[in-house]
Amino acid sequence: MTPEQDNDCIFCKIASGEVPSGLLYEDDDVVVFPDINPLTPVHLLVVTKKHIPSLAEMSDGDTPLIGKMIKAVKQVAIEQGIAERGYRITINSGADAGQIVPHLHMHLMGGRHLYWKH
Ligand code: 5GP
Ligand code: ZN
Repeated sequence: MTPEQDNDCIFCKIASGEVPSGLLYEDDDVVVFPDINPLTPVHLLVVTKKHIPSLAEMSDGDTPLIGKMIKAVKQVAIEQGIAERGYRITINSGADAGQIVPHLHMHLMGGRHLYWKH
């Protein structure tokens, strides 16, 4: 745990390595690991090492982290073989979006057609 992490947060515990998750990617700021309850054949979570409760609670100084997350998405999507056919990223922020883990994360989903509008 770093001073920027929260001892009571499951994603902080995963990001620090305290809880194993099958990490697929790690850099100084971001980790990627499989969602425990996948909704698509590839369903990964892109998580900041810093504990930020939600997108809405990001400070201006944190915004470069979004670029780091996208960089991780691009690399992992290639490694997972979904870059060519396509994928979706989602950030749930707050109750109406159904955010259940209060630590900033992107869902990276792919491996099948993802319905949008018909
Ligand atoms: P949210 O609704 O907050 O955007 O999504 C949180 C996601 O985290 C959910 O899809 C849920 O399945 C996943 N999740 C919750 N707890 C754990 C965990 O301990 N390990 C992993 N790998 N995923 C988790
Ligand atoms: Zn956290």
